[in-house]
Amino acid sequence: MHHQIPPPPLMLAGKKALIVGVANESSIAYGCAKAFTDMGAEVALTYQNEKARPFVQPVATELDAALFLPLDVTQPDQLDAVFAAIEAKWGQLDLLVHSIAFAPKADLQGGLLQSSAEGFAMAMDISCHSFLRLARRAVPLMRDGGSLFAMSYHGAEKVVPHYNLMGPVKAALESSCRYLAYELGPKGIRVHAISPGPIATRAASGLKEFDVMLAHAVSEAPLGEGVDVIDVGRTCAYLASPCARHMTGSTVYVDGGLNIMA
Ligand code: NAD
Repeated sequence: MHHQIPPPPLMLAGKKALIVGVANESSIAYGCAKAFTDMGAEVALTYQNEKARPFVQPVATELDAALFLPLDVTQPDQLDAVFAAIEAKWGQLDLLVHSIAFAPKADLQGGLLQSSAEGFAMAMDISCHSFLRLARRAVPLMRDGGSLFAMSYHGAEKVVPHYNLMGPVKAALESSCRYLAYELGPKGIRVHAISPGPIATRAASGLKEFDVMLAHAVSEAPLGEGVDVIDVGRTCAYLASPCARHMTGSTVYVDGGLNIMA
């Protein structure tokens, strides 16, 4: 379904972006990186570990990434190293995309009532608090203001069967975006949660009956088709651009309107 629509003009010319969460070319983070570079930005990409690296490397090559570094967000040294490299390379940062989530399989698939304290805490740490850890390091480099994005899902707001503990975790992520928007507004830094409709990615394959969710989204969304990762990336690019300079703190749906349906 990829885009017959020509890429928009160089709305992000000269901007520097850190994008965390590319696993492969199906990743939402890939869509962001592709849309940003199409619109003139330079990107720094990370890979979770050596096992992930060969799948992320082709994306770094395709998009001519200025930096390509390991980052597991549970490793503070790696977080520090990524931002030190950004400072050395660019001296500043304009855009940050957090597009990662994790929950142990048993906790994810077992229903909220049964989720373990450890599994819940791990999901919250990797899927929510890591956004704050990234933001805390990004803010000092956003000398001319900037934009922060985190990927959420409608299961934060309404009950979506099988989304389980990720519902409350994404609710915390969306709320964190609002509080960060409040705290960072005076610095000219805007913050959004992006809420894509279902997209077949590696992370999505961990959800029970994801294919049912996807089919429902396509048949019920007012715009009548699934969303792809480039759509999500282009929406982020618009929000990061001066066209959206008075928007912050929102949860922005990129779901063909699915969220308005009963
Ligand atoms: P994906 O599998 O392509 O990306 C998930 C990424 O999380 C991977 O790159 C993985 O390496 C990374 N990750 C997990 N644990 C990590 C850690 N400890 N340190 C660093 N990185 C880690 O899947 P995706 O669907 O593109 O997911 C991206 C985001 O979009 C997630 O927050 C997900 O919840 C959200 N989202 C996905 C959908 C969908 O239907 N696919 C819909 C709405 C929101």
